Amino acid sequence: MSLDSTITGLHHITVIAGDAQENLDFYSGVLGMRLVKKTVNQDAPDTYHLFYADGAAHAGTDLTFFPWPGAAPGRIGTGLTVEVALAVPSGSLAYWADRLEQHGIQPGKPGVRFGERLLTFADPHGLELALIETSDSREFTPWPRSPVPEPHQVRGLHAVRLLERSAAATVDFLRATLGFEEIGQEDGWRRLALPGTRSGRVLDLKEAPAERQGTWGTGSVHHIAWRVPDDATELAVQRRLGSAGRRPTEVVDRFWFKSVYFKEPGGALFEIATDGPGFGVDEALDQLGARLVLPPWLEPERGAIESSLPPLRQPESIAPASRR
Ligand code: ZN
Repeated sequence: MSLDSTITGLHHITVIAGDAQENLDFYSGVLGMRLVKKTVNQDAPDTYHLFYADGAAHAGTDLTFFPWPGAAPGRIGTGLTVEVALAVPSGSLAYWADRLEQHGIQPGKPGVRFGERLLTFADPHGLELALIETSDSREFTPWPRSPVPEPHQVRGLHAVRLLERSAAATVDFLRATLGFEEIGQEDGWRRLALPGTRSGRVLDLKEAPAERQGTWGTGSVHHIAWRVPDDATELAVQRRLGSAGRRPTEVVDRFWFKSVYFKEPGGALFEIATDGPGFGVDEALDQLGARLVLPPWLEPERGAIESSLPPLRQPESIAPASRR
């Protein structure tokens, strides 16, 4: 089924992490992604919200974290996203296997999934990740200061995997309301995809009726956000979500994008997010992530917020700005 105004792919994925410095050391220092926004959780401004993306902070490249060092570990289970897959260029997995091992991360054996080669591993706080080789087109700008050479850099979000107690209601919802099509099955996983050929439009879903319900905690995905090109499309999707009984929230202005939240029928938290205005709205492109950025309504509390946050330093493997 095709819907004339619908979502186009993954926008960002937000994950609960442990220590903020360890998170930065791994995602920028090891995976080589650019910290494009250092801000606070707008619902809990005494904690960071860290955004990692490509060199130009394109929508769809963005993995974000709430570092909550005191949280208990999450529990893998139904109603949760259980793996985040990142796109890497074809032919780069050998590089990545070496790099991860050099940094004390032991990846699984390279495998093939739906015809694409991949490497799976967990981040330092327990998030299950996959690096998937793909030559599917996508928006990507290299980050010159990354410790990872440009030919191997992470291109952005490629796919997600969800466990569900019962798959039928979620599959029906994804097809009828969000515009997905079911495009294959493998090893008990059903693959759904948005129309098109670009990287970043795939959701794999597995029915696991005997599995416990998953719970949020360190290393678990908090929510996945899907892209819409503009405010009008977001409102159209919000209306469809309402008609489908998903009880979407009002539009929340996140300053860099506008968001609507809802739970899919299996219980996982989803978001619809606009492509714009983007991360460049309050920082120059070459300064993204350099300082703590607050949305205007939190600026009056900057002093108190800054003093409640632990200091963060860029990993030593990041090239100095002057070398560019
Ligand atoms: Zn979000």
